[in-house]
Amino acid sequence: MLNDYHIHALSHGEYRHTMDWLSLFVKKAQQEKLSEIGFAEHDEFRHLISFDNIQQVKEQFPEIKIKTGLEVDYIPGREDEIKLIKASQNWDYLIGSVHFIDGWPFDHPDHKGKFTVSDIDEIYYKYFMLVKQAVETNYFDVVGHLDLVKIWGNRPLTKTMLYYITPVLKIIKDSGMAVEINTSGLRKPVKEIYPAPEIITQMYSMEIPILFGSDAHHPDQVGMNYQEAVLQAKRAGYHEIVIFSDSKKQTIKF
Ligand SMILES: [Zn+2]
Ligand SMILES: [Zn+2]
Repeated sequence: MLNDYHIHALSHGEYRHTMDWLSLFVKKAQQEKLSEIGFAEHDEFRHLISFDNIQQVKEQFPEIKIKTGLEVDYIPGREDEIKLIKASQNWDYLIGSVHFIDGWPFDHPDHKGKFTVSDIDEIYYKYFMLVKQAVETNYFDVVGHLDLVKIWGNRPLTKTMLYYITPVLKIIKDSGMAVEINTSGLRKPVKEIYPAPEIITQMYSMEIPILFGSDAHHPDQVGMNYQEAVLQAKRAGYHEIVIFSDSKKQTIKF
C-alpha cells in the first residue's frame, strides 16, 4: 500500500482540472501500483480546483482512493488567511510548506543566485525557523519537503544539517504531524530525496509518522522514484505510512 499525496494537476496554473487530465494522473498511479493518491494543488491556484471533476474521477476509478488536499505556503502573517482556507473546504489534509524566506522565493530557479552571495548557515537557520513556525500554527497535517532549502546543492558550512533540523523534529513530533518523503529532490540539482536519509533515520527513532509524495506537476511524475523512497524509508526502519481522510490520520502498512 503506497500513496502519492503531493500531486499538482494544475501545475503552476498551466493546466486545468478536466476529467481527461485528472484521469491521466490516476491511470499513472495505477500503473505505479499506488493504492491511494491525493491532489494537493498550490494554495494560490485553489480557485481553479474542480471539486466536481475530482468527485467524478473518484466514481470513475473506485479501485483507487483519491483524496483532496492542498499545499499551503507558510509565510509569517498569513495565519488568519490559512485558517480561513482550512475552514473553506473539507480538505483531507493540508501540506504546510516553506517556499519563501523573507519574501525570497529560494526554490525558484530565477532566484537561486542569492545562495552564492549569502551566508548559507544563516539561510538554513532562517528556513528551519520558518518550518518550525509553520508546524506551531497547528493548521497543517503534513510537513512538505522538510529540507527543501538544499534544493540547489548548497550545504551549511559551519554546522551539520542535523544541528538545524533536530529541534524542528522535536516540535513536529509533539504536533502529531506527518513528514512526507518527497521524491522531487531526486529530479533537482541536489539529487537527493527530501528529507535526506540521515534525517529519515532520525525521524524513525523519534516515531514521527511518514507518507509519500512525488510533487508531480505532470502525470508522468506520479510515483516517480518511489523505489528509492521506499528503500530509504525501510532502511530507516519504517514499515507503516499514514493516510488522511478529513484531517483524520490512519496508519497502514507499505
Ligand atoms: Zn512545495
Ligand atoms: Zn508541491
